[in-house]
Amino acid sequence: MICGKVQVIGMFTAFLIKYAEIGVKGKNRYLFEDALVRQIKYALKRCDGEFAVRKTDGRIYVDAISDFDYEETVAALGRVFGISGICPMVYVEDEGFEKLGQDVVAYIGRVYPDRNKSFKVSARRARKNYPLNSMEMNAELGGLILDAYPEMRVDVHKPDILLSVEVRDKVYIYSETIPGPGGMPAGTGGKGMLLLSGGIDSPVAGWMIAKRGVWIDAVYFHAPPYTSERAKQKVIDLAGKVSAYAGPIRLHVINFTDIQLYIYEKCPHDELTIIMRRYMMRIAERIARATECLGLITGESIGQVASQTMQSLMATDEVCEMPVYRPLIGFDKMDIVEIAEKIDTYETSIQPYEDCCTIFVARHPVTKPNLNIIRRHEHNLDEKIDELVQTALETEEVITVSQA
Ligand code: ATP
Ligand code: MG
Repeated sequence: MICGKVQVIGMFTAFLIKYAEIGVKGKNRYLFEDALVRQIKYALKRCDGEFAVRKTDGRIYVDAISDFDYEETVAALGRVFGISGICPMVYVEDEGFEKLGQDVVAYIGRVYPDRNKSFKVSARRARKNYPLNSMEMNAELGGLILDAYPEMRVDVHKPDILLSVEVRDKVYIYSETIPGPGGMPAGTGGKGMLLLSGGIDSPVAGWMIAKRGVWIDAVYFHAPPYTSERAKQKVIDLAGKVSAYAGPIRLHVINFTDIQLYIYEKCPHDELTIIMRRYMMRIAERIARATECLGLITGESIGQVASQTMQSLMATDEVCEMPVYRPLIGFDKMDIVEIAEKIDTYETSIQPYEDCCTIFVARHPVTKPNLNIIRRHEHNLDEKIDELVQTALETEEVITVSQA
């Protein structure tokens, strides 16, 4: 079913893809369209059925060239950033206006079993030698629909059904628009390094930045045996969920155990989280530079926990030279959960496998860290920390996660 309204789905054999924001990019427009076509192909690889994706006359069409699973296909297109609307279409051969009239009446009959509705016909002809102009087509087709279905009525201002009929190589008929996710096509905005934990927030943060057209790489700080293999698998699963939208994600798994134990040994315990987070950011930035990322991404939001007060964020930010993108910074947990549910990461995120922060949390972590004191205490680590960071980087495991 489409939007809960349209009942007949077996008849649709193609989709017109609408895109809003990328329409305004001037000379770079083709780059955006090409990226969108590429991402549509990537998303459809997972679907049953074969498809041709084509860019014609400044529009993108998806044609099914075999049987396909309609629901699954619409769901896959609904995960492609850059798409603002998905219109299921019917093609009919151009065999004269009389035949077209019959086809249009049949379309309404099949798609709208409940015909107590208003409508408007919006005809277009790409071929100017078509015997009727678009105004004439609107009037004629409207008349035929009214003859066939007297319970329907015309409303040119706010119709329930806006029926598009376009004469091109064939005649395209469509009337429904399923909302797409919006945003920009993946890869049109550079690449960012997401600090991905097993929590609710960071997958949502990655999704939001990916929605702006940014490729995502990710880093996960793993602390075996304090964090289990299952906790790591959960992060891989979350990367998979995000990659259904964002495209393939290279996940860097960093063994953080020795660094964490060393901080635990040398620094006051109420500052552990902050110092640990500073090392996470430093290491993430090193990997980001080596992989041509243009910024770091975290799931932080002001005041959510002790390490996310403005003072703590300032202390974490201080160690980064790259911009740190925190798309959830002003979000309440409820808003974040709502997105997590929508993008299907929530159920995975709430599985009860601890992440490495929960093992070493102090009972009373500082909420207003003093930068001078934090810096001073970090000097306690001078003897071994560079070597430990180096080892962590050298022993990273890289996993490419892809939903396609
Ligand atoms: P999340 O729900 O994303 O885990 P959180 O509310 O648990 O966030 P913190 O644990 O303070 O908050 O982490 C803040 C941010 O730091 C996370 O959103 C994530 O970007 C990053 N982060 C925390 N732990 C890890 C980890 N083990 N590996 C990678 N990034 C991490
Ligand atoms: Mg967390």
